[in-house]
Amino acid sequence: MRHANNFILSLLMALSPMATFGQSMDDVEIVTHPVADGVYMLAGQGGNIGLITTSDGAFLIDDQFAPLTERILSAVAEVTDQPVKFVLNTHWHFDHTGGNENLAEAGVMVVAHDNVRQRLAAGQFMEFFNREVAPAPDGALPVVTFNDSITFHMGEHTIHAFHVANAHTDGDAIIHLAEADVIHAGDVVFYGLYPFIDTGSGGSLDGMIAAVGQMLELAGDQTRIIPGHGPVIGRDQLANYGEMLQTVRDRLVERMEQGQSLAEIQAAGITAEWDEDWGGGFIPPDRWLEMLYRDRQAARID
Ligand SMILES: [Zn+2]
Repeated sequence: MRHANNFILSLLMALSPMATFGQSMDDVEIVTHPVADGVYMLAGQGGNIGLITTSDGAFLIDDQFAPLTERILSAVAEVTDQPVKFVLNTHWHFDHTGGNENLAEAGVMVVAHDNVRQRLAAGQFMEFFNREVAPAPDGALPVVTFNDSITFHMGEHTIHAFHVANAHTDGDAIIHLAEADVIHAGDVVFYGLYPFIDTGSGGSLDGMIAAVGQMLELAGDQTRIIPGHGPVIGRDQLANYGEMLQTVRDRLVERMEQGQSLAEIQAAGITAEWDEDWGGGFIPPDRWLEMLYRDRQAARID
């Protein structure tokens, strides 16, 4: 039952970024999940937020949508007296960066990978969703950007963000909290639903698999992992996720090398053992295979 509830919750969170874009968020509640000492996951609408409370201020990872900023800051104030000093965007998607402008106006420093700033500033077209995303206003752009990695030393926490190449997008950061033994995976991990890979923004399945491998190297038995969408997981669940991606990839590549068409691969049931648990999110199995197929086609042309 607990699993079912978690699943429905993750489903709702997953559906939300695309399904409710532009709609009212009046009913959205920010729910605070304790993850470790001084570390929380805030779930509302869109990507899971990481919150680290320290004696030198609070630190946010992602900020969902603009209409939720006040509610997010209220949730922060429930667990710390300290002001938010930084927000780090795990990537450019609007359900992770929508609160940037509000937070910047409130004096929060916005930080992200170089490509996040570039993509936000330029505006984007998301082919998979046939969605135009307008350029972000100047006030929403990260004011500190990094190429490879950046480290924040705040109170008792070391907050290390490092770039992983061409995974969910080309601007992904994964955040490792060594003392707290927590990883925020951003959208490199969707747990309990097939992951969106934004190939139009430089994402790739191979990059996702490699990034999961990098996280597994950092994770121990007690490590808690906050996914971009879905519930907090442990190392074993992360390993299962990586194995699913690898197995589907290998089956897909084999069939593509035999010259099978997308329709043939979709009919072959190569994701069958995961479809019940993972196929109920905003990307059903056929669409997910279509996304992976196009990704591999592009990889073969390059
Ligand atoms: Zn995303």
